[in-house]
Amino acid sequence: MRESSSAYASRIRRFRLPRVCIAVVGGDAATMVERAESLVRDNPFIELRLDYLSQPQVALPKIKAFLELHPEATFIATCRRAVNGGKFKGSVAAELAVLRKAADIGFPLADLELQSAEAVKADELKDLYDRVGLIISCHDFRATKKLDDQMAAMNKYPADFYKLVSTATNLHDNVVMMKFLQAHSGSHEMVGVCMGEQGIISRVLGVRAGSVFTFAAAMRGEETAPGQVPASELRDIYRIEMVDQATQVYGVAGDPVAHSLSPVMMNAAFRREAVNAVYLALHAKTLKDLLACVQEIPIRGLSMTMPYKQEILEILENSDALTKQIGACNTVVRGAGGQLYGFNTDVAGITVPLEQRLHLAGARILIVGAGGAARAGAFGLKAKGAEVFITNRTPEKAQALARQAKAKYLKRADVAKQQFDVIINATPVGMGASKQSPLEEKELNTKYVFDLVYNPAETPLVKMARAKEIQVVPGLEMFVQQGARQFEIWTGKPAPLAEMAYVVTKALERQATEKVTEEPPVPVRTAKRSEPRAAVSKAARKSEPRAAVSRAAKKSEPRAAVSKAAKKSEPRAAVSRAAKKSGPKTVARKAAKKQAQTTRKK
Ligand code: NAD
Repeated sequence: MRESSSAYASRIRRFRLPRVCIAVVGGDAATMVERAESLVRDNPFIELRLDYLSQPQVALPKIKAFLELHPEATFIATCRRAVNGGKFKGSVAAELAVLRKAADIGFPLADLELQSAEAVKADELKDLYDRVGLIISCHDFRATKKLDDQMAAMNKYPADFYKLVSTATNLHDNVVMMKFLQAHSGSHEMVGVCMGEQGIISRVLGVRAGSVFTFAAAMRGEETAPGQVPASELRDIYRIEMVDQATQVYGVAGDPVAHSLSPVMMNAAFRREAVNAVYLALHAKTLKDLLACVQEIPIRGLSMTMPYKQEILEILENSDALTKQIGACNTVVRGAGGQLYGFNTDVAGITVPLEQRLHLAGARILIVGAGGAARAGAFGLKAKGAEVFITNRTPEKAQALARQAKAKYLKRADVAKQQFDVIINATPVGMGASKQSPLEEKELNTKYVFDLVYNPAETPLVKMARAKEIQVVPGLEMFVQQGARQFEIWTGKPAPLAEMAYVVTKALERQATEKVTEEPPVPVRTAKRSEPRAAVSKAARKSEPRAAVSRAAKKSEPRAAVSKAAKKSEPRAAVSRAAKKSGPKTVARKAAKKQAQTTRKK
């Protein structure tokens, strides 16, 4: 039954589709149409998950009216059966009937699972293929393996696109998927993506490996597959429409890492400075897995977070003296030959906000805590000439750090008797909803309190300090400053501090609002929630000075000299010619519209 694959391919090559297809769900036609309507202008490529409808056949006439209103957009009809990971409880014959009807009412594309294609008669499949652009898809909800076997199975059937969706159980699975896409996209129109939190690399970079498009959720809470990213994030944070072969890849690596605001901040910095780069959250369960991706993708730079800040030191080709002394590295640069160089920008994250307020030489500074952040503070502040005191819940750790950093150990019982210029909280006490403070009110005998905890901004310690009219240095400033140094090491450009502080402040505000609102998993309306995000991203793109930008961010602070090693190995900001050349979107849309109209007339 199979016609030559080139004939099928030529049918659809005229499609110039947007890179992001938004999967839209809804229990009835009105809800689904309302959601699609709120998205279609920004993103004229939508998958309607008919399997989420209680009665797909009944809903289709209403959907027809919506399709007719949007000839500029491309729609995929999907009615995935429950046995294949969808919601449709009917038989394969019933699924086929829904897709046939969807084709007849004007859907230009339909998605059929491989198992369904295998179950229907050849002439029935041919009939569907004659009516509509066909996507044969295959999902593996457990792993990324045997991709070539799955492709061979799909390739037995005529299709305009072959879609392979696997599950990333580690970061390297993304490399497997992207190599697979590179191998097959020359001969077939391919769509490939890894599901799961660890599949983010393929969701953003799959398009440059040969995936014609990728899937996105309408919004958080409306994911139709694990790890699906909201379309607004793919577009505004990861700038997926700009990703090309020249795009440099960076990321924050840790376990866990989903909570990190670094992607929001660093991608905003890349966008503002027109650096052709993307920054991803890399959930690395092992350092070995991470390092394989660093070399194979390749990844040009990493922000290291827990639990790898120490372990990475053993892998590095070299690092600066302070990083070695501290024994922790939060910034990695990959040189052209694949060698890794390490830096510790947490030091600048602590010293720069303080230097903007007081002379560090001779300043009396108490650090509470003796972990990674405390170490960066102790060595960094000593190097600036400060008199550093350390206290900690476990005295032995504080004593050891004091010895190494040539600081002074202070018993907790003696803290209240002393006077300081600055007290730094380098413990996690006060994070999240915690009502605890690492110190009591009587112990706050200081001009400044620097709480490294930045989520929430108003910790119990910060509130206590404000009540005593002590000046507060917010933890957000450390976060922005350490990220700014990373940006400078990687790109050689001054970091856009105001933009970075702005987007993180907004993200924290949004998180706080979302926590308070406690929305249901599938909210009823999309427009209301998507508006604030769109507004934020629009504002972020504008160049006016921001309100609500932190004090430090507003100041043009002195920049630390970036090491020669970093300068040599950094990827430069060249926005690729390819990106500039790629024609205006309108051309693609016109082509898609024409194709859609032609297909509907059939
Ligand atoms: P870490 O785990 O290496 O060290 C934590 C320290 O806090 C240890 O000395 C531990 O003994 C002490 N501690 C933990 N729980 C405590 C408790 N209940 N009471 C008293 N002491 C306690 O962590 P880290 O990497 O040093 O980070 C510490 C905190 O600093 C983080 O939780 C984070 O909030 C903050 N931080 C902020 C930034 C930023 O950019 N603003 C960067 C790094 C760290």
